[in-house]
Amino acid sequence: MNKFYITTAIDYVNAEPHIGHAYQKVMADILARWNNSFGKDTFFLTGTDEHGQKLADVAKENKITPKELADKNSLKFKKAWEFLNIKPNRFIRTTDKDHVKTVQEITKKIYEKGDICKGFYEGLYCKGCEAYLTEKELVGGKCPYHNKEPELLKEDAYFFRLSKYQDRILKHIKENPKFILPLTRRNEIVNRIKEGLNDLSITRLNSNLTWGIPFPIDDKFTTYVWWDALINYLSGIDYPNKKFSKYWPADVHLLGKDNGWFHAVIWPAILMSADIKLPKTVFIHGFLTFNKQKISKSLGNSIDPVQLGKKYGVDSIRYFLVREIPFYDDGNFSEESLKNRVNNELANELGNLISRTLTLSKKLPEIKKSSVEIKFEVKNIEKLMDDYKLTEALNEIWRCVQETNKYINQKEPWKLEGKELEKVLYSCLESIRKTSILLWPFIPETSEKIFSLLNIEKQNLKELNKEIKSYKVKKPEILFKKI
Ligand SMILES: [Zn+2]
Repeated sequence: MNKFYITTAIDYVNAEPHIGHAYQKVMADILARWNNSFGKDTFFLTGTDEHGQKLADVAKENKITPKELADKNSLKFKKAWEFLNIKPNRFIRTTDKDHVKTVQEITKKIYEKGDICKGFYEGLYCKGCEAYLTEKELVGGKCPYHNKEPELLKEDAYFFRLSKYQDRILKHIKENPKFILPLTRRNEIVNRIKEGLNDLSITRLNSNLTWGIPFPIDDKFTTYVWWDALINYLSGIDYPNKKFSKYWPADVHLLGKDNGWFHAVIWPAILMSADIKLPKTVFIHGFLTFNKQKISKSLGNSIDPVQLGKKYGVDSIRYFLVREIPFYDDGNFSEESLKNRVNNELANELGNLISRTLTLSKKLPEIKKSSVEIKFEVKNIEKLMDDYKLTEALNEIWRCVQETNKYINQKEPWKLEGKELEKVLYSCLESIRKTSILLWPFIPETSEKIFSLLNIEKQNLKELNKEIKSYKVKKPEILFKKI
């Protein structure tokens, strides 16, 4: 079917949004816009994860209720995404009523199937992860993600029979090579599954934690925050109703590598148990680092994406994140390379291309259609986007900008007049139009400004080859100021 359903990780609201959160949401927004521009019925879901011990603790420190803290911080995430021109179809909060209802329904369904049973749990618990860790996961006795020693906990609990699904999950991964991307992550996960799966505790005793969804099987328990959070992908599209039937299965869940295991192993098992189809792809991107260290509030190096956007411009940030940070790998953030890319690429290469083409075009009353001399290889870009190779796709699009600049330098249109000049300019304007269509998912505001300068309606990817009969362009404006 001609639809595209994309989700991101939902962010935990014990802290404020930083550039690492923004990175993932920008990527998701680009993929949603790209598919939308192709005419696909697209649904993009993001939101905030609001239950659990960690949030309850931070609220207590701040002398407010967990809900008050969640309201306050969730709004900051929502506003940050609005500011960065990230446009989800729904911003879900795990405290939303419909989400709570769906979690309880799914939990009951799985319980009735016999996949939830009671026992007690003893293990090493990391508050940061809201999860029990195995000895193997620890680095020097500490959680590798939070750099803290886990606590030894023992409590009554309900368990999800994850172990039952081991073979089915392995089989699914083997039969669906795009189920887990990239390949390196897939191999890591397969190896870990082969070491054996343990059943998973999905509750906390009310005496230890009440900030969560009441466990529908036993009122002495609260639902484990991870179990609750994963189900947002269903409640976000109104499971089990019409919207769900239209968009499920998800085309891609985007998430960082600290969430890989939950999405590539636990989530599929939950879906199998509930007799729901699996998502097509779980895409695990790398971490954004700052001076080669993971960016996080606990490490004190978080960068506020809104401040950054105010300083450099939203499209500069969006462009930089895709171009600089390879989606398949870790990448490093530095303001120095951001400045360089804005100056050399956005201001010089793109800005100058448009400025000189429009300035020359103003010498003629209009630029009529003629044969186009700059060729575009779009199929390759489409393929890269379908494979989630956003950096490579943007590199290819940028080559179109560079090729057009090269063409202008060769033709020297400033020496030409009349029909000769018109012919060269038509090729350039068509090239700018196509580039602008291709760039729209990445830098929408700039792209829309370019359409306006070309004095034509905004176009989408399906209209790429619909050549304009005659251009009557506007006066050039500066698109990107040099820093
Ligand atoms: Zn941890």
